[in-house]
Amino acid sequence: MSAVRVRVPAKVNLQLGVGPIREDGYHDLVNVFHAVSLFDELTAEPADGLELAVEAAPYSRVAIGRVPTDARNLAARAAVLVASRLGVEPRVRLRIRKAIPVAGGMAGGSADAAAALVACARLWDDRERPALARDDLMEMGAELGSDVPFALLGGTAIGVGRGERLTPALTRGTFHWVFAAADGGLSTPAVYAECDRLRDAAGESAPRPSVAEDLMTALATGDAKALGAALANDLQPAALELRPSLARTLNAGRDLGAIGALVSGSGPTCAFLAETDEDAADLAVALDGAGVAEQIVRAQGPVPGATVL
Ligand code: ATP
Repeated sequence: MSAVRVRVPAKVNLQLGVGPIREDGYHDLVNVFHAVSLFDELTAEPADGLELAVEAAPYSRVAIGRVPTDARNLAARAAVLVASRLGVEPRVRLRIRKAIPVAGGMAGGSADAAAALVACARLWDDRERPALARDDLMEMGAELGSDVPFALLGGTAIGVGRGERLTPALTRGTFHWVFAAADGGLSTPAVYAECDRLRDAAGESAPRPSVAEDLMTALATGDAKALGAALANDLQPAALELRPSLARTLNAGRDLGAIGALVSGSGPTCAFLAETDEDAADLAVALDGAGVAEQIVRAQGPVPGATVL
């Protein structure tokens, strides 16, 4: 096989419920993931050794300078994992074309890892040995990071545990989003640490999170307004504390007509929901004019997970 090209979506968390810290240092989470049409593209082709190149997608302002191009890159780690599982050498050139903001809370690194799992499994597919099954890829994905299995699955799904145990959610229709990417990322561990610090300071103990019924009903009925009202992110106060300017971005989106607004995951990307495609176009133009973000991008969800093109 000469080259395999895979497209993989970003995610936004429609609900991110953060529970108490577990003994292994992770938090118990309830996550409602939603894959949106903002895609990274990864190409895998045979090479003499493991090579990796990263470029920004045309017209995107992704800060690729902050993406490691060595063995720390999650896509490279995914390729090494697939090779060791199949008992082959990781002789592959990976080229990543990024449109998903880096360290933006949209799981771009996890998306690239999912794309590399799918691409390498296909590239090294050989009739001489059993092909890797979907479940094998999901298991390897969970090993690489809690957001990787969802990037394989796509759609809308509830994740529990560290977020990696997934159940697809019933949804109707398409939701229209506008994303405001900020200059500079936020470190996910730092945002969790700040969340714990804020809770300690307030003397609050974290409740065990559960899936919000109103959110699931909004998804199942395709009711954008109800979905907008049900969006919730327990990490938002921490992200706002670490990056106070995000409050201005969220308020601008609300003032300009968004029917829902929240920080995406650990931030700093802000996500805004619009009722129709046209409303999303208007909101994107208005937000761009307000100058509250580095880049404004429109996207729709749900979309499928990592897909071979
Ligand atoms: P999440 O929403 O899962 O918390 P994120 O969207 O905030 O993640 P990523 O874009 O996945 O953040 O990047 C987090 C860090 O991971 C980056 O700062 C970078 O150093 C590292 N990284 C490793 N591999 C990649 C990759 N392929 N693309 C982007 N970042 C990567």
